[in-house]
Amino acid sequence: MSIHAHPDDQEFTVGGTLARWAREGAEIVTVCLTHGDAGSNRFTPPDMTRARLAQIREEEQRAACRVLGIKELVFLGYEDGVLTATIDMRREVTRLIRRHRPDTVVCGDPTVRFYGNRYMNHPDHRVAADVALDAVFPSAETRFIFPELLADGLAPHHVREVWLHGASRSDTYVDIAATLPQKIEALREHRRQLGDWDPSGMLKMWAREQGKPKRLRAAEAFRRMILDD
Ligand SMILES: [Zn+2]
Repeated sequence: MSIHAHPDDQEFTVGGTLARWAREGAEIVTVCLTHGDAGSNRFTPPDMTRARLAQIREEEQRAACRVLGIKELVFLGYEDGVLTATIDMRREVTRLIRRHRPDTVVCGDPTVRFYGNRYMNHPDHRVAADVALDAVFPSAETRFIFPELLADGLAPHHVREVWLHGASRSDTYVDIAATLPQKIEALREHRRQLGDWDPSGMLKMWAREQGKPKRLRAAEAFRRMILDD
């Protein structure tokens, strides 16, 4: 289960790994906490509304998932740009984990505030990562947390591994040489966000950088948590 704040977050960060896992037969569920309906930039026409943008971004995320080989996509419909780690949100993510029962959850690292000197991590990204981790542990596996989920027939579920991308300390490197073209193609499906910008140079550079510690030509780096039963 790949959990993110916005449409396109997954494609920027973990698309190569997910495409590889899908090729290897994994069933993947993508969860977007928002529709990305605040995602306006210089490419956004002045007459665009939030409702229309939400619809476009959902369609683009569906197309991107198809490219990566992901069949299941869930939107939780929280408001983009002002994501707050509420108990309601944790319950809804817990509900999805108990329903789909993933072996592995992929999300961001909520502790990272700055990436280099040029990008401050978006607050929605930190919240999405925080909520994903809190839902994995302890909520998903603890019977007496959110007892209302039991009443809905959703039994506790133990997630075995959590893979954090963009982590302050990476320890696991996935070779994405074979799926990097797919990652680029998937990101390109987010046409409204990208406008006329070609993301391939940046994604290739990131893949090269992340592969360096293991002498891989192209990789995605993670901090991998293996959770005791
Ligand atoms: Zn984002």
